Amino acid sequence: MPNPSGKVLPLKITGYIISLLLFYFILPIYLLKFCATPRFVSLGLFYLSNLIIIYCLYRKNSARNYSFDSLIQDVQERFNLLRVEYAKERQNNAALKEKNRRYQSLKSVLEKINQDLDLDNVADTLAAEVFSLIGDNKGLCLLYLVDNQTQKLNLFKAKKDDPTLVVKSKEGDIFDHWVLRHAGPLLIEDIKNDFRFDLEKLKTQDSRPISSLISAPFISENKFLGLIRLDNKSTHSYSQDDLRFLASISDLGALALENSELYQKTQDLAIHDALTSLYTKGYFAQRLREEFKRCTRQVMPLSMLMLDIDLFKNYNDQFGHTAGDIVLKEISRIIRESLSNFNAMISRFGGEEFCAVITGMDKNSACSFADSLRADIEKEKIILRRVESHVTVSIGVASFPVDATDEDELIQRTDKALYKAKQKGRNRVCCI
Ligand code: GH3
Ligand code: MG
Ligand code: MG
Repeated sequence: MPNPSGKVLPLKITGYIISLLLFYFILPIYLLKFCATPRFVSLGLFYLSNLIIIYCLYRKNSARNYSFDSLIQDVQERFNLLRVEYAKERQNNAALKEKNRRYQSLKSVLEKINQDLDLDNVADTLAAEVFSLIGDNKGLCLLYLVDNQTQKLNLFKAKKDDPTLVVKSKEGDIFDHWVLRHAGPLLIEDIKNDFRFDLEKLKTQDSRPISSLISAPFISENKFLGLIRLDNKSTHSYSQDDLRFLASISDLGALALENSELYQKTQDLAIHDALTSLYTKGYFAQRLREEFKRCTRQVMPLSMLMLDIDLFKNYNDQFGHTAGDIVLKEISRIIRESLSNFNAMISRFGGEEFCAVITGMDKNSACSFADSLRADIEKEKIILRRVESHVTVSIGVASFPVDATDEDELIQRTDKALYKAKQKGRNRVCCI
């Protein structure tokens, strides 16, 4: 207890000293002089009682010391506990701040990828954001999408800190195939110590050094759309937290990628025929107008071929509608292949009618080209359930500038030529 007044303490000490003098000098002298009992007995009793008093005082003091020590220990323990708690709180606070930062980043990624429906832009934004937010713009970020036709991974976007680096694994390496197989995220802190993978296989796939990696798949309604991964030449570049963050981005990315794919499909369907993949009549008419203007401006010939399958109704009746569809696909393939070296547009103009416009081809060349195309189609064997079948086509040809001055007139003249070819007995070309 602190002493509240400065004067009390010296007074107390003086009192103690006087009491001690009285007790140890005056009382023994009194005892020796006036006590009736023998001197040594009274002195002995006096000092014995003193010893007992001193011992009791000592015991009392050591008990107090002991309780004082345990109090200090208690306080120390509490202090230590508080220190640990404080450190934990600081850690939690830092983790919370980091979580908040990542949440804000996630929000901004979501806003950015929702701004666009174009697949290329969405994928580019995803790769750039992951590379900067998690990869710190170091190492490599690769975004693969599954090719719908081959069902294989296809490298779609790459962000790298070294612009000279060439990524050879265009269809993914052993790690990407692992993610594809397991449809789950992957974290490798040190590739040399991860015994899940055969590194010999990696050497044959890619020559760039990789020591650590994180990867997460794009999965939407159980459909594997692709994956995004980060890799680095140093070990322990990514943590579990990074992987969790990457998985959150890939969840959002999957939705955005699926939306873009759907949007692209819708756009494709608007301009491409679903059965033959050729242009639809509407889109073809729009493009024809532009092409016609260009040819008029540049004084360039333009030829149109209109092609109709002969007696196709009979073919359908004989072999069935599904077989008829196969024929339509085959014929569109032949037309597309034969025109692959020309500046041409091809459209499925009606049920079993096709129309092609070839820029820069004059009428004579168009007529001979049409006849060789007709002959190619006639020669083509269409095998259905081991039965060989053939179809023939009639083709009408008209050209700018010899037959028409605008695109509508060109269509009318070509249609007329086709009608004539049919009238003359089919399987022929009519050039008006
Ligand atoms: P022509 O030589 O005079 O052209 O005779 P055609 O039988 O080809 O002509 P028509 O116009 O009478 O019949 C066209 C047929 O084309 C009728 C229809 O069954 C078929 N067709 C149209 N679109 C499709 C299609 O998408 N798939 C199949 N399988 N058949 C189709
Ligand atoms: Mg027909
Ligand atoms: Mg027809």
